[in-house]
Parts: sequence; structure tokens; C-alpha cells
Amino acid sequence: MNWGLIGASTIASQFMIDAIREQAGQNISSVLSSSEERGREYAQNHKIPDSFTDLDELLNDPEIDAVYISTTNEKHKDQALAAMAAGKHVLCEKPLAMSVADAVEMVTVAEKSGVVFATNHHLRNAGSHLKIKELIQDGKIGTVQSIRIFHAVHLPENLQGWRIDSAAAGGGVIPDIVVHDADTVRFYLDEDPLEVTAVERSGSMGQGVEDSAMSIWTMPSGVMVQTHESFTHRFAGTGVEVHGTKGSIVARNVMTQQPLGEIFLTNESGTHSVPFDEHNLYVRSVGLFSGAVEGDGRPSADGIDGVKSLAVAMAVKESATSGHSVRVEYGGL
Ligand code: NDP
Repeated sequence: MNWGLIGASTIASQFMIDAIREQAGQNISSVLSSSEERGREYAQNHKIPDSFTDLDELLNDPEIDAVYISTTNEKHKDQALAAMAAGKHVLCEKPLAMSVADAVEMVTVAEKSGVVFATNHHLRNAGSHLKIKELIQDGKIGTVQSIRIFHAVHLPENLQGWRIDSAAAGGGVIPDIVVHDADTVRFYLDEDPLEVTAVERSGSMGQGVEDSAMSIWTMPSGVMVQTHESFTHRFAGTGVEVHGTKGSIVARNVMTQQPLGEIFLTNESGTHSVPFDEHNLYVRSVGLFSGAVEGDGRPSADGIDGVKSLAVAMAVKESATSGHSVRVEYGGL
């Protein structure tokens, strides 16, 4: 299987190039950059044979089976639709698009084109989150009553570009992090948030986009969800708490790209540390995507999962700016 990278990005550099090369028989043929010089340098640094500035040139290569899209968010939709039209399978970064309608269009076109379309939501690939889901499903905490997600981090300096000052590129903590929290809650509970009430702040790092958000979500089952996302919290640490009628799961440092963290299960018999598998999140994501391309199974998070996480983030944004509770609109999905 041969890949084209659409976007000379940090995430590809730090995680995805290695994750693709970890798969047996998979290669990266080329990379697309808007800058000829950066594309050439990126290709050289990562030993990628070709770099292009023209998307059609990359897509015209019949050897390329799949593309990984990790450009800034406003570019995802058009690049994905072009790749699908060229018959390429698409693994796209979150958020899939700048609107729910655009993301739904991506799902519809993928279905018509017969290509695999997936969203690179890494957290549901983590051993920690898989274990938390298993504990919930095995009834270890009884009926789930509430979930709290702590996802207030300090955005590393090298990422303090478009994310903190460009709404046009899809910047802001809501498109960046709320989508991951939405995907995590959906993954745990197999249900979609109904309504959200949110507040946002900006100014300490964000310029023209929010750098912090807090929200509460109602779920069809009645589970209460509370989330906190930020780019500006140096020492907060991340975590998840899932509270049920028979026990509580408290996980620390698990909202991360690394296979890290700790899980504790507390019930009538006391507090117990719960071990989990420490595999690479992105290797698993690419592995499941390529399995789906070969007709074996489904991607970890598909296009519909990407639409739904985006829909929650859009509702959080609308609630934070309007001051009202907002019903989540999933674009008919
Ligand atoms: P980057 O800012 O590193 O890359 C985005 C684009 O910015 C690139 O496509 C590139 O454009 C341009 N760019 C990169 N480096 C430079 C530079 N030094 N000078 C000028 N332009 C540059 O973004 P990220 O890698 O952080 O994010 C990319 C996408 O991936 C986003 O959609 C984000 O939401 C998602 N993401 C997902 C994560 C996950 O775990 N699922 C984690 C991190 C990001 P060009 O291609 O034209 O050269």
C-alpha cells in the first residue's frame, strides 16, 4: 500500500510517518506542500521520494492507494473530495471540516466513490481509553452517572501558530480539542450528545479565537458530561473520571498522544490500579485503516465519527458565543 501525504505537517513528522512505516508493506511515495522549498526539504528530511505543490499531480500517481490529510483545517474538505474523486482512500485529520454540512458531504462522496474514509481520532486507539471502555461495558462501575474530562494543556510553542490566531484556518481550542473529547465520550458510551451548554475565553494566548472552553453535555441515557479544554494551563495535567452506581474510574494523564497515564478503579473493595496495553496510538489507527482498505474490519474512527465529533464542537462554539444551550445537529446522520 502506497501513501501520499497531503500536508507537510508537524503531526505527520512526529507520529504519522513512523506509524505508516511500521505497517508491513506500506510506503510513503510523496508529500504535498504549498511551498516548493518546504515540501522538498520535508521530503528529504523524511526520506520521501517526491514532493509536489499541485494536488492533482500527487493524486495522478496511480501507485498511490491512500492519502493522509493533515493540512490546516479549512483545506481538509476540498483535498479529501479531490482524493476521493481520484479513487484514493482517505485518512483525514480532525476536525474533518469547517462545518457539519461539509463533513457530511465528505462522508456522502466517500460512500459514492467506494473508498474508505476515516478520521484520525487517536485517543480511542489508546490502551488507556480502550481499557476504560471495557471497564464500563463489563459493568465494573455499574450504571454510568457522569463523566468529567480534563483536557486543559499548555500548547507547545512550536504549535502556537494558526491554532491561536486564525479562525479562517480552523484555529481555537474548540475545533482542536473539543472534537477529541466528544469522540472519547461517544466511544465510551456508544451514544451521541443531545445538547450542550458552554463558555469560552480568549486573550491569554488566543488572538481572535478561544483558548479555553468549558461545557456540559446532556446524553440520551441521562449521563451528565462535563469537559474543560484549554491551551493555557501549564500544570493542570489531563484526565478522565467516569462515575457509576457501583464504582468510579479515575484516569490521569490519558488525554495525550503518547501511550501513557494511569487508571484507578474505586469500588466497595477499595482503590485498584488497572493495567492497560501501552501500544502506539497512531500505529493502531493506521493499522485499522489499512485493514479496512483491504476489506478487513473498519477504521478506528470512520467519517461519521468525524462528523459527529465536529457537530458537538460546533454546538459548543455556538453555545459559548450565544450564551444559550444548543441542541447538537448531526447533519442528518
Ligand atoms: P502544522 O501547523 O504543523 O501543519 C499544518 C500546515 O502548516 C502544513 O500542512 C504546512 O503547510 C504548514 N506548515 C507546517 N510547518 C510550517 C512552517 N514551519 N512554516 C510554514 N508553514 C508550515 O499543524 P499540525 O501538524 O499541528 O496539525 C495539522 C492537522 O492535524 C490539523 O488538522 C490538526 O487539527 C491535526 N492534528 C491532529 C492530531 C491528532 O492527534 N489527531 C494532533 C495534531 C494535529 P504545507 O503543507 O502547505 O507545507
